[in-house]
Amino acid sequence: MNKTSDVISRVRSEGRKTLLETEAKTICVEYAIPVTAFKLAKNEKEAAEFAEQIGFPVVLKIVSPDIIHKSDAGGVMVNLKNTVEVRSAYAKILENAKKYNAAAKIVGVLVQEMAPQSTEVIVGAIKDPQFGQTLMFGLGGIFVELLKDVTFRIAPITREEAREMITEVKAYPLLTGYRNTPPADIDAIVTILLNTSKLVMDYPEIKELDLNPIMAYEKGAKTVDARIILE
Ligand code: ADP
Ligand code: MG
Repeated sequence: MNKTSDVISRVRSEGRKTLLETEAKTICVEYAIPVTAFKLAKNEKEAAEFAEQIGFPVVLKIVSPDIIHKSDAGGVMVNLKNTVEVRSAYAKILENAKKYNAAAKIVGVLVQEMAPQSTEVIVGAIKDPQFGQTLMFGLGGIFVELLKDVTFRIAPITREEAREMITEVKAYPLLTGYRNTPPADIDAIVTILLNTSKLVMDYPEIKELDLNPIMAYEKGAKTVDARIILE
């Protein structure tokens, strides 16, 4: 069995539908969708060790099946520059999680590479009752949330369709370079769309997928947060 089916059967056996970030990112890695390097720590000492292995600065995030929106729970701390900051962030995140939901089951704290700020894009998938697996693309932040500047295609998509999805959003010029911002690596985003298409076609039990945000760089791209929900 491959990793993706292992992850999905374990989630099911635990009676869950929403994958943890670690689980969603493990699946991304198998589908060659680039994600920030990550390691799950079970205590402060491990968190500090993993941070040193990954390299500073790092980000720490709560991992709990009962906390879906991690930053709402005070469960995300970014730009931690040394082991002292990592240890105190670990304690603070657990404290915040307890305050947010005292009954939340805590799996651990995810230590991850801090992705440099860049133009943010979003790749999503949703299983439409009529059309089946459908892919979504947009630019991050206000473009999707406020302006609904998004585009959809029924999966599976071709390379050409992936490219169309990117070029047809209104915010596309932001990806071609402006002022001090260099052009984004469109091919890297095309590859993420194609690999996401393959993933949701291979696993029809995926009801929702959200790679949000993905940092789009001049060379390459990196998924910072990944969510997958099963039927
Ligand atoms: P959630 O959506 O569950 O609140 P995220 O993982 O999306 O949690 O984290 C919230 C925000 O923190 C992200 O949108 C991003 O701006 C920032 N962030 C999270 N992880 C990283 C990372 N590895 N590198 C850089 N920024 C990050
Ligand atoms: Mg997020």
